[in-house]
Amino acid sequence: RGWRNGFDKVERLLSASNEKISKTKLVIIGAGIAGLAAAKTLEDANFKDYLLIEAQSEIGGRIQSAPWNKAWIEYGAQFVHGDQSQLAQLCYKHDLLSDVQCPDGQGIFIRNNGCKVDEALIEEIDDLICNTLEDYEDYENKNIEIENYKTMFIPSLPNLFSQAIECLGFGLINKVFLDFGSSWWKPNIKGFQLLWKEGVFCNKNLAAWTRDLTGFDVLPNHEGVLLGWVGGRGAYIVETLSEEQIAIDCENLLRHYLKCYKISPIKRCLRTQWNANKYIRGSYSHITTRCDVNGITPRSLSEPIWGKLTEHDNKDVPIIMFAGEATHENFYSTTHGAYDTGIKQAQIFLQHHVAES
Ligand SMILES: Cc1cc2nc3c(=O)[nH]c(=O)nc-3n(C[C@H](O)[C@H](O)[C@H](O)COP(=O)(O)OP(=O)(O)OC[C@H]3O[C@@H](n4cnc5c(N)ncnc54)[C@H](O)[C@@H]3O)c2cc1C
Repeated sequence: RGWRNGFDKVERLLSASNEKISKTKLVIIGAGIAGLAAAKTLEDANFKDYLLIEAQSEIGGRIQSAPWNKAWIEYGAQFVHGDQSQLAQLCYKHDLLSDVQCPDGQGIFIRNNGCKVDEALIEEIDDLICNTLEDYEDYENKNIEIENYKTMFIPSLPNLFSQAIECLGFGLINKVFLDFGSSWWKPNIKGFQLLWKEGVFCNKNLAAWTRDLTGFDVLPNHEGVLLGWVGGRGAYIVETLSEEQIAIDCENLLRHYLKCYKISPIKRCLRTQWNANKYIRGSYSHITTRCDVNGITPRSLSEPIWGKLTEHDNKDVPIIMFAGEATHENFYSTTHGAYDTGIKQAQIFLQHHVAES
C-alpha cells in the first residue's frame, strides 16, 4: 500500500495525451505489478523518458486491497508464494507483508453429511480435484473472450504470438467474503474445506453455484470473517447474483455441511467480479492441452518483437515486449512471476535502447 501511494508518477499520467505518448521513448501499458516493476527498473537506472499508462482509476491491477471493518481485505492476490523471489525480497525490505503465514485451503475437510475426513484421504481427494479442474478448462477457455489483439496491432502480431494468445488459458476465480460479526468456530480452526458427494445436489435447498465453492478460509486478522473461493461455472454465476442472495446461499451451504455448529447469521457479504472488469476479464493464466499440442509455453509471449525504429536505422531493436504473469516460463499466474517479467523486459529495453545509444 505504501508503494501504491508513493507511486504518483502513474496517477499523473492517467490521462496521457497522444502527443505525449508519441514523443516518449517507451510506453508501458498497464500499471499492474509487471508494469510497475518495469517502471521501477527504469527509475532505478535513472531512465526517465517513459510513460506508464493505466486504464483504471487505480493502479495495481489484480492486486487490489479494500478497507473492511478496521483492517484490509484483498480482492485479488493475497499470498506471496515463497520468500526467495525478487518480489518477496522487495516486500520484506518495505515491510509490506503480514507476519501471518497462511496457505489457502487449510482447515477441517468435511463431507456433506457433516463428517470430518481423515487427513490421509486428503491427498487422494486432491488428485480428484485436479481432474475436475481439468474438466473445467474447456469451459473456461470458451467463456473468456480473447478481445482486441487481432485489431490492436498494425501490422498484426507474428503468428507465434497470436497462437500463444489463443492457446494459453485464462481462468476465473472469485472470492466471497462473509462477515459474521464474531467467530462461531474455535480459535484454532483455519477453515472449512468442502468435499462433495455425488447426488448431493438433489437437495433443493442448496444453490447450484455453491457446488463450485471449494471451501472457506478463516481470514487471519479479521474477527468472524470467512473467505470462500469459487471456481468453475460458479465463478461466473456468482458475479450475476446480488450479495444478499449470495449470503443466503452460503449460509444454507454452511448449515448443510456444519450441522454440529451454531452458525450465526451473515451480517455482510462481498464478492469479487474479476470477469466483469473489462481490463482484466479473469483471474490468472494456465497452460492448456492446446499449448502442449502446439508447443506453446508462456515463454512464447516473452520474446521481444524486433524491428527498425526508423527507415534510416540499419539495426533491429526490440520494439514491442510483453510482460505480465502469463509470460513467465515457470511462475505464470503469480505476482512474483509477473514482477520478474516486468524487470526482465525493462532490462532488455535498457540494454538495446539506452546502453548502445
Ligand atoms: C482472486 C485472485 C487471487 C489471486 N491470488 C494470488 C495470490 O495469492 N498470489 C499470487 O502470487 N497471485 C495471485 N493472483 C494472481 C495475481 O494477482 C496476478 O498474477 C498478478 O497480479 C498479475 O499482474 P500483471 O501485472 O501481470 O497483470 P494485471 O495485474 O492484470 O495488470 C494489468 C494492468 O493493465 C491494465 N490495463 C489493461 N488494459 C489496459 C489498456 N488498454 N490501457 C491501459 N491499461 C490497461 C489493467 O487495468 C491492469 O491494471 C490472484 C489473482 C486473482 C484474480
